[in-house]
Amino acid sequence: MNPTVELTRAYHFAARKHVDQRRKGEAAEPYMNHLTEVAELVAQATDGDLEVVIAAILHDTVEDTDTTIDELRTVFGPRIADLTAEVTDDKSLPKQVRKHLQVEHAAHASWGAQVIKLADKTSNLRSLLASPPPDWPRARRDDYVDWARRVVAGCRDANAWLAGQFDAAAKALD
Ligand code: ZN
Repeated sequence: MNPTVELTRAYHFAARKHVDQRRKGEAAEPYMNHLTEVAELVAQATDGDLEVVIAAILHDTVEDTDTTIDELRTVFGPRIADLTAEVTDDKSLPKQVRKHLQVEHAAHASWGAQVIKLADKTSNLRSLLASPPPDWPRARRDDYVDWARRVVAGCRDANAWLAGQFDAAAKALD
């Protein structure tokens, strides 16, 4: 299919799926702003690898909406579905277990999934800086940054430029 059509289908799909969601920060940005930021970072880092960029747009659809991996496979094909599955937490597990598994999985994920993880954590740290959640005390913010650094330690070799973007965001939060 035409790449422009594929890309715009992914944006429209994500916008519909996340229509009612907002970021946790004080500015309560539309959730879609997180997805467009992650997609732009991935596009720059990969020089426009279409399937990885589309998986970046869709990376939270299964975790945070009613979307299934099978649905992504039908609509967007196997590689995009597999990449999204790699960056999706198992929400049946307790939060602390999921956080630990993210650290372990990051080191063993495919290159495309590692790039998406790097971009996702970079976007999340930028949001913490620009629009901190009003109910997060400093210790909770510090814990999040520490954990993000542990996840990124396992996948930062996937892209040096993106690792630099992450480091800059983490440093600004120190
Ligand atoms: Zn995300």
